[in-house]
This record gives sequence, C-alpha cells and structure tokens, in this order.
Amino acid sequence: MIIGLTGGIGSGKSTVALAFAELGAAWVDADDVAREIVAPGEPALAAIAERHGRGVLKADGSLDRAALRERIFADPAERKWLEEETHPRVRERLVEHLKRLEAGPAPYVLLVSPLLFESGQDALIERCLVVDVPEATQRARTLARDGVSPEQVEAIMAAQLSRRQRLSRGCDVVDNGGDRAFMRAQAGALDACYRLLARA
Ligand code: ADP
Repeated sequence: MIIGLTGGIGSGKSTVALAFAELGAAWVDADDVAREIVAPGEPALAAIAERHGRGVLKADGSLDRAALRERIFADPAERKWLEEETHPRVRERLVEHLKRLEAGPAPYVLLVSPLLFESGQDALIERCLVVDVPEATQRARTLARDGVSPEQVEAIMAAQLSRRQRLSRGCDVVDNGGDRAFMRAQAGALDACYRLLARA
C-alpha cells in the first residue's frame, strides 16, 4: 500500500515522515527525487542549462537551485516550462523507487511530496495523508528553518494548494499545530490503521 503524505512548505512533512519511519514505514521523498533528476549527467539538467544558460549552473556544473528558483518565481511561463520538463521525469523515477520499496519488508510505503496533487503524483497512491498546520504556524516554522525572506515564503505558498484545497483532497489528517508529542500520538494511531488496511 502506498500512502501519499503531503502538506505545504514548513507544515512538517519531513518531521511526520520520520515519526512514521520510526514506527517501521518505508518512505521516499519526492523532493529528493526532484534533486536526483537534475544531477549532473541527467537529461533534465541539460535541458535547463540549454534554456536558461550557464547562469543557473554552479562552477562544478551542478544546478544552482537558488538562481533557477529566482527566475521561475518571477515568471509563470518559465515555471510552467520547468514543471512540464521535470514533473514527468520525477514521476517516472518515483515509480521505480516505490516498486523497490513495495518489494521490501515494510508494512506500507509513504510518498512524501509537497506537490502531490499539483504534479499528478496522486495517481501513484492509494490514500493520502495531509499534514495540516495553521498558515501562521507554517510561515513561522519556515522562516525559522530556512534562510529565506518572508516574500519568498509567500511566493512558495501561493504556488502550492491552499490549506482548504489540500484538506478537501486528503483521506487522513495529522494536526501538526501542536507539539511533537501530540503529532507522534496521531502518527501512532494512523500507523495501526495503515497496517490493518495494508493486510486487508
Ligand atoms: P516540511 O518538510 O513540510 O517543509 P519540516 O518537517 O521540515 O516541514 O518542518 C518545518 C520546521 O518545523 C522544521 O524546522 C521542524 O523541525 C519544525 N517542526 C515540525 N513539526 C513541529 C512541531 N510539531 N513542533 C515544533 N516544530 C515543528
């Protein structure tokens, strides 16, 4: 059984995924895979460099993600181009990872992704778990974690589904607006439920 785990930036996806991993779940992070498919030597990186020039590459030939992010958040057409170039490749690579993990010993597999619905990865899952926090908490935790400006956080949030849209599409919810113990208690209850469903 593959369960999508989604939530906006800074909602706590990685933190919640780790809680499930400690309970025995396998997981793959779509952000890691998105980095994998633009590594040096990958066709997606060549396509990006051809379109945007060497200004989006670091001296060692790897992708300068900050430089690319700056260009695409200022330009919706470029964002669309990049999504069309990368999302199918990410999905393809995710399928490979998921197959491998499904063949392993874990009772179920989590696909952790901020853009589960936005990039069509929801076609790969059977259920969806939404990590939910109030938007003020999301902003505060993101600013405390990342060296980004409040404007950048707003731009990223605006490019993602709204809290209400995300909640209306998920089957299950973790309320991560409280402390970590409160989150872990919910993860424990859901883990029991997922084990049952995976055996059914
Ligand atoms: P995401 O993966 O969704 O972007 P993270 O899991 O990295 O979010 O969480 C964002 C930040 O908030 C991190 O610094 C994390 O340590 C912190 N955090 C996550 N959950 C909680 C919580 N329940 N209480 C306090 N801080 C939290």
